[in-house]
Formats: sequence, C-alpha cells, structure tokens
Amino acid sequence: MSRIVIIGAGLAGSLLSIYLAKRGLAVDVYEARGDMRLQEVAAGRSINLALSDRGIAALREIGMDKYMLAEAVPMRGRMIHTVSGETKLLPYSGRQGEYINSVSRAGLNIALMNEADKYDGVTFHFNQRCVYFDCASGEAKFSNGVRVKSDTVIATDGAGSAVRNAMLHGGVERFDFSQIWLEHGYKELHIPTGVDGSFQLEKNALHIWPRDKFMMIALPNFDGSFTCTLFLAHKPQDEGGAAFSRLTDERSVAEFFHREFPDATKLMPTLVEDFFANPTGNLGTVKCFPWNASGNALLLGDSAHAIVPFYGQGMNCAFEDVRVLASLLSEPGAIATGSSINWESVYEKYGELRKVNTDAIADMAEENFYEMRDAVADPVFVKKRELETKLEQTYPDYFSKYSMVTFREDMPYSVAKEKGNAQDALLMRLCSQVDNVSDLDLSEVFSIVKDL
Ligand SMILES: Cc1cc2nc3c(=O)[nH]c(=O)nc-3n(C[C@H](O)[C@H](O)[C@H](O)COP(=O)(O)OP(=O)(O)OC[C@H]3O[C@@H](n4cnc5c(N)ncnc54)[C@H](O)[C@@H]3O)c2cc1C
Repeated sequence: MSRIVIIGAGLAGSLLSIYLAKRGLAVDVYEARGDMRLQEVAAGRSINLALSDRGIAALREIGMDKYMLAEAVPMRGRMIHTVSGETKLLPYSGRQGEYINSVSRAGLNIALMNEADKYDGVTFHFNQRCVYFDCASGEAKFSNGVRVKSDTVIATDGAGSAVRNAMLHGGVERFDFSQIWLEHGYKELHIPTGVDGSFQLEKNALHIWPRDKFMMIALPNFDGSFTCTLFLAHKPQDEGGAAFSRLTDERSVAEFFHREFPDATKLMPTLVEDFFANPTGNLGTVKCFPWNASGNALLLGDSAHAIVPFYGQGMNCAFEDVRVLASLLSEPGAIATGSSINWESVYEKYGELRKVNTDAIADMAEENFYEMRDAVADPVFVKKRELETKLEQTYPDYFSKYSMVTFREDMPYSVAKEKGNAQDALLMRLCSQVDNVSDLDLSEVFSIVKDL
C-alpha cells in the first residue's frame, strides 16, 4: 500500500487526508502545533471564514457539507457602514440561494480531523514541525530529530511552508518564487453576543466599514458574536495617515475607532484590551512553480499559493486543490505499475491544471482589496452592483464576476477572471453615464454582456 506523508494538519491537510483515505491510501499527517481539539486555539488565527461553493463542493464529496453548513451563518450581501452610521446592503447575488457562509475556522478544522480519525489509514502526529525536506531522497526531518521517508510528501504547511523553502533553496532547479507583502496588516477584534444571544448587527451580512485607505469588516459567528478585522497600513502612507504604527496607546486606539467606526465601537466593550492582546498579522501573495519535486513532494493550498483574503477564497481554493488532485488520482493513468501511483505524472498534470487558476484568484483577491476598501463607497460602483443584481434577477444566464468566482464551482477561476473583468469594465462605463440604473435598457445591456 502506498504510504503518504502530509505535512500540516490545517484546513487543506486535514481534508486531503480524508480524500486519500477514502481511496484506500495510508496517510501520516505531521502537524507542528499540538492537537487543537485538546487546547485553546491561539489568538490571531482568523476566527471565522467565508465558506462558498467551491469549498462546499469539496466537503460534499466527503459527505460533510450539510454538517458544516448546519452551524454556519449565511451572509447574503455586504452591509456598508458610513462614518455617520448609515447602512446599505449590497446583495452578493440577485438569485435566491446564492450567498456565502461564515464558519468557524477551528470548528471546521476540528470536524475534518475528527472525520479523518474515523479511517484506520490516517494517523495524526502532533507537535512535529518539519524543519527540512530532502527533495532528492524524499526524506522529511522534524524538529525532534525524527526522519520520515514515504512514497511521497504532500506539503500543506501553509504560507511559510518548510517544504517550499527546501524546494527554493536548491531542491528544485529553476524554482520560480515571489512573495509580495501588502502594506496593510490585519488585527482581529470582537463584538460580543447581545442580550439573550442576539446579534448586535444585521446577522446575515458581511459588514464593511470602507474608509478609503483602510477598512474594517465583521463576520457573524454562530453564537451571536461578530469577529471584526481591521485592515490598516503598518506605517503611514502619507502625512497624517492612519497606521498601526500610530496606534500605540489606549488613547490613540480609542480616538481612532470612535472617529472612524463610531457605530461599531459602541458595541466593542473590550476593544482596547483586544487591540493590544491580539497580534497584528501580515498579508501577502506567494506565487511559485513548479509545485512538484520529482514526485517526492507536492505543494498544495497556501504553501503553493498564499493569497490575500479579500475574495474570501484562500480556503475555498485550497479545498478545490484537494478535489482536483483526488480526481487525478482516480484517472486510469495515475497507476504506474501494479498498484503503485505515478506521483510525478499526477503532480505534473495537477500543476498544469491548477497554476493558471490559482494565479487568477491571487490577482483577483488583490484587486478586491481595493474594491472593498474604496469602490463600495463609490456611487458608480454601487450603481453597478444594483445593475448586476437586476441582471441576475432577470437572466438566469447572467453571472457577475463575484458570482462566477464565488458561486460557480464549475467555472475555473481563470475564466471567471477574464469574463468578469470584461463585464466589470463595460458595466462601470454604462453606470458612469446614467443617474439611475433604471435609465438603462436591461435587455440591451444583457445582449452586449452575454457576448463578451
Ligand atoms: C485574516 C484572514 C482571513 C481569511 N479569510 C478567508 C475566508 O473568508 N475564506 C477563505 O476561503 N479563506 C480565507 N483565508 C485564507 C485561509 O485561511 C487559507 O487559505 C487556508 O487556511 C489555507 O489552508 P492551508 O491548509 O493551506 O494552510 P493553513 O490553514 O495555514 O494550515 C497550515 C498548517 O500547517 C502547519 N504547519 C506550518 N508549518 C509547519 C511545519 N513546518 N511542519 C508541520 N506543520 C506545519 C500549521 O500549524 C497549520 O496547521 C483567510 C486568511 C486570513 C489570514
């Protein structure tokens, strides 16, 4: 039986172990941290995540979609908050049933590990940090001195991947690598549950406070609380500009929040404590290739393509990675001789299929940062969303770029990007020419858009 090592029991690694075990493969999963089922999850790792159709499709294949959605909070649109406290809901889609879901990161990770534990073929090894990987021999070395040799290693060890480092530093010839940091970092904050378990903001929305050079968002949790994330430059970008480096004491934090987000601030009784207790995270985009070290290792999920979180797709994309890899393992050509798997050939095909798509979502995620931060407050953009909603309500074949990325598990990210950008440019131009969306002839707009 093929023996596979997965490095990293995060979201992608845990899901992958189930997919492989279902195919009768034996899997050892090595995780740097302790078992999160037995300890409190460290602050600073995003508390909740938006799960959408690509991720749901991957969960469906292992029969876990309904289970996970039972404790998810549907978010039907973006609720924009102005400084003066007015709100406006911009629906994610004009179609019923197209929404994203706020799920607990730890809850999902734990559910996946519990499911994986049901298979005899899966063994988790916690507190085992991979420190070195020999790309030529396929041997992985762990911080406690243990060395492991398997048929192949799949590295799901996240954005700072140790296996990717070994590939970069001589392990794989002509290994392309880039890491671009955003000037913005992030910090998670908290709005507690209201009286009797109520939600203190609209429950079924992703809340956004766009403020030109920075923004705050809030996603609902199942228990009635909200997790807020402030995205702000690490250092001032202009004189007087807001930045984490300027928020150094209680007074400056309180003043900043009262000035910029007064409606949210009054719901955040532990704001100042949380601000100083929680870490400030970095955000960046990692691109690299090839992901395959002669069949000895494959990078998958964030280790291969970490992206900024502004499309809510990092995990969804990693889950799609798992689906694509598993489907290749089921193809007749995957079996080389006897029952052994031709990993190199599978990994090469996987890279060919995925790279163009992970590059596309990486680019769209960066672009969406500017859309969320600036454009949602732009009247032309608001008209464009209105027009798109009308188009989606009227024409079943119309999908906005957001819908193609988020609700079309059947459409590759690269196609969504190309088609979506062409649509966006056209609709923005049309909306800039009218005062009201009702001034546009909807059927004429649709006839142009559908041929793009
Ligand atoms: C603020 C924020 C918000 C986000 N929101 C969303 C969202 O709404 N929707 C969405 O789809 N995505 C979102 N993402 C992205 C998402 O979190 C990632 O894409 C996803 O976690 C990737 O899964 P992964 O398993 O590849 O990596 P990870 O989840 O990072 O897991 C990696 C695992 O490997 C372990 N590990 C690391 N190094 C080693 C080592 N050397 N040896 C052994 N183990 C190791 C880690 O402890 C961890 O358990 C967000 C990200 C951030 C930062």
